[in-house]
This record gives sequence, structure tokens and C-alpha cells, in this order.
Amino acid sequence: MGKKCNCCGQVIGVVSTSGIHEDCLSIKKEWGYFSSKDLTEHKFNICESCYDKWIETFKIPVEEHESHDVFQLLPF
Ligand SMILES: [Zn+2]
Repeated sequence: MGKKCNCCGQVIGVVSTSGIHEDCLSIKKEWGYFSSKDLTEHKFNICESCYDKWIETFKIPVEEHESHDVFQLLPF
């Protein structure tokens, strides 16, 4: 509860009677020996609107797949 977007500071994942309003990206990264961060753990949350703005800046777009339950039943 009270999870906030590290980018804009807005509260995310507000639970109401109709369910959870917003999904978000939660990142936890333990940087290894060979990074400049040397075994530091980073953790942050990004709300959906910040996420959308963020991925728009990517040179290579994110991979996108349908993930509806019905598709999981199909053998690929
Ligand atoms: Zn945000």
C-alpha cells in the first residue's frame, strides 16, 4: 500500500471496490561486481503514464505481445 511512482511521485496501485486501478512497473536490480555500482541494489516503481513516456524515448521499441488468457492456451 502507498506505493509511489519514483518518477512523478504519484501513488500507484490504488485498491478500490472495483479492483486495482493502476498497474505499474516494479524494478529491482542488484548491480554486480562489473558495474560501476558494485553490488548495490536499486529498487523503484514507475507508473504506467511515466512508463509510456519512458519507453517512447527508447531507440528500439519494447517488444509487445498479447497476453490475454485465451492466447496462453494456444500452443506456439
Ligand atoms: Zn509516474
